[in-house]
Amino acid sequence: MGKIQIMDEWLSNKIAAGEVVERPSSVVKELVENAIDAGSTSIEVFLEEAGLTSIQVTDNGSGMDEEDALKSFSRHATSKISKEQDLFRIRTLGFRGEALASIASVSKVTLKTSDGENNGLEVQLEGGHVVSKKPTAFRRGTDITIAQLFYNTPARLKYLKTIQTELGHSIDFMNRLALAYPEIAFKLVHNGGTLLQTNGRGNVQQVIAAIYGVQNAKKMIPFSAESKDYKVHGYASLPEITRANKNYMSIFVNGRWVKHYLIQKTIVDAYHTYLPIERYPLVVLYIEGDPYLTDVNVHPAKLQIRLSKEQELLPLIQEAINNAIRSAIHVPVAEKKEKPNRVPTEQMNFWKPAQAPTFDEAKINAIVNKLNGEQSVVKETAEPLQNEAVQEEEVLFETPTEPVEQWDVPTIQQDEQHSAQSVEEVVEKREPFPELEIVGQIHGTYIVAQMEDGFYLIDQHAAQERIKYEYFREKVGEVNPNERQSLLLPLTFHYSADEAIILKENLHALQEVGVFLEDFGQSSFVVREHPTWFPKGFEQEIIEELIEQVLKTRKADVKKLREEAAIMMSCKKSIKANYYLTKEQMVVLLNDLRKADNPFTCPHGRPVMIHFSTYEVEKMFKRVM
Ligand code: ADP
Ligand code: MG
Repeated sequence: MGKIQIMDEWLSNKIAAGEVVERPSSVVKELVENAIDAGSTSIEVFLEEAGLTSIQVTDNGSGMDEEDALKSFSRHATSKISKEQDLFRIRTLGFRGEALASIASVSKVTLKTSDGENNGLEVQLEGGHVVSKKPTAFRRGTDITIAQLFYNTPARLKYLKTIQTELGHSIDFMNRLALAYPEIAFKLVHNGGTLLQTNGRGNVQQVIAAIYGVQNAKKMIPFSAESKDYKVHGYASLPEITRANKNYMSIFVNGRWVKHYLIQKTIVDAYHTYLPIERYPLVVLYIEGDPYLTDVNVHPAKLQIRLSKEQELLPLIQEAINNAIRSAIHVPVAEKKEKPNRVPTEQMNFWKPAQAPTFDEAKINAIVNKLNGEQSVVKETAEPLQNEAVQEEEVLFETPTEPVEQWDVPTIQQDEQHSAQSVEEVVEKREPFPELEIVGQIHGTYIVAQMEDGFYLIDQHAAQERIKYEYFREKVGEVNPNERQSLLLPLTFHYSADEAIILKENLHALQEVGVFLEDFGQSSFVVREHPTWFPKGFEQEIIEELIEQVLKTRKADVKKLREEAAIMMSCKKSIKANYYLTKEQMVVLLNDLRKADNPFTCPHGRPVMIHFSTYEVEKMFKRVM
């Protein structure tokens, strides 16, 4: 007799559970996705001990009749796909029909459901077997509770991390689902405390506020673009908000959160020169396209995705975000809040309450204050994100300590803080270059300039880098054959044989950035001339660095190489710190800066100037409250 047997369903479910149900957060994900697929407009998740003791998901979706409710726990039971073609046009989050079977096989399940037409049903399962079944009065929708996850697979439990880590994963999933579906009201409660609550009104920025805090939501700029096959839209943070890791870029393809390396990279590229190195933006990106272009059936948890027509999609994303950022750039300010009532001390006796803040303004301020606490730095994250990612947070700009507000604000409830319904018109406009009057220079490093509403500190090195970068970017953008200068003595370069091969294949790209490298045989090269605008005294260095760049990437991308060249050249001759400038030099510098496309950040993404408002300064001196 042969040895091969068909596994019984119970055993195969338990094995499959290893794939689908890795940890409590995977259960949360599958259950909430089912609720979304069922057309719910309100979904509540209650966790006990990060979901290890219990996970309850309540929805107001379609519900199930008795037959479906019982069937839903068998493997490959799905209402979402019935023929092969469906697999290429998946519009629902689930389709494999294995989640409930897998989850039930490793836990104790109580399901209450009703389709609103028939009697409700309550079923209990243990380890995948139905242990009780009875009619119950229940409104339309579903309520499913998973207790004692992994009770019969103790080995799984060992792989789980701390409660905080497991909870962090669930919060992360819920945050992404809330972002993906702003029109659904989500609530996440852990051990009785609300961690996330959205209002389901369809406003993405309000969801962003609920997750990342109001002050971050205020700094998000909308973007959108469309091509033949794809539609992209979303929100991108101003460059002044940055993160130490990539988790804050959420990508959704047809309502599904995905991790996609190339798309992430495209987003970062869209911020090129606006972000400091190794810092990442906060971005929520929605991609919509015909489902046949987006193959989701590559990974059991469906987090990965295969995209067709990437050549069309990626530039679309990059341009949409880059345009939005460029038109919204503004000067970082040392002051982060709205002006509350102004109380000049010398006028105290005559003081009458100025125009009272509107309710919404007051509420936003109260929320912002609460989030800032009494710390002297602007914290970039709000509760309730408690996963590890948050702890890596650093701050970019420090602001002076803010005195505690004296004026009365309506008290806000914990929950309001998360639902943040008051964020409406929160996007800031591009600021024009300020009319500055130079006051002087400090430490040979910063120019101090004033205007009506306060003063500015301008980093002279960063300013010059930005000016030069834009100059070189234009020069390198199209190398003019008439602007060449011959060298008395040609420069010679020698490389290893394999490097020489790479260089020979990239001679054209190098020419495009002004490096006229000639093959001299035996892995040697000469340069007999270079553009007149190469920074004087740095010609050889620049040529060598550009060659290095080509060797590093092997296949030069002309666009990138131009960018590198412009940054490199702008760095070379910029005035460094500790260099005293005359007033005339400062005037010239600021005038040149004014003409720049983006005068507010240097090519490495650092700020060029920081604004100190009169109000902020008066507050520091406690002249106003
Ligand atoms: P899939 O989602 O891949 O179809 P699942 O095992 O997650 O597979 O669910 C099986 C089926 O149970 C679904 O196709 C759906 O018909 C039904 N179902 C599960 N959860 C719900 C819910 N919350 N509301 C209504 N129907 C549900
Ligand atoms: Mg499912």
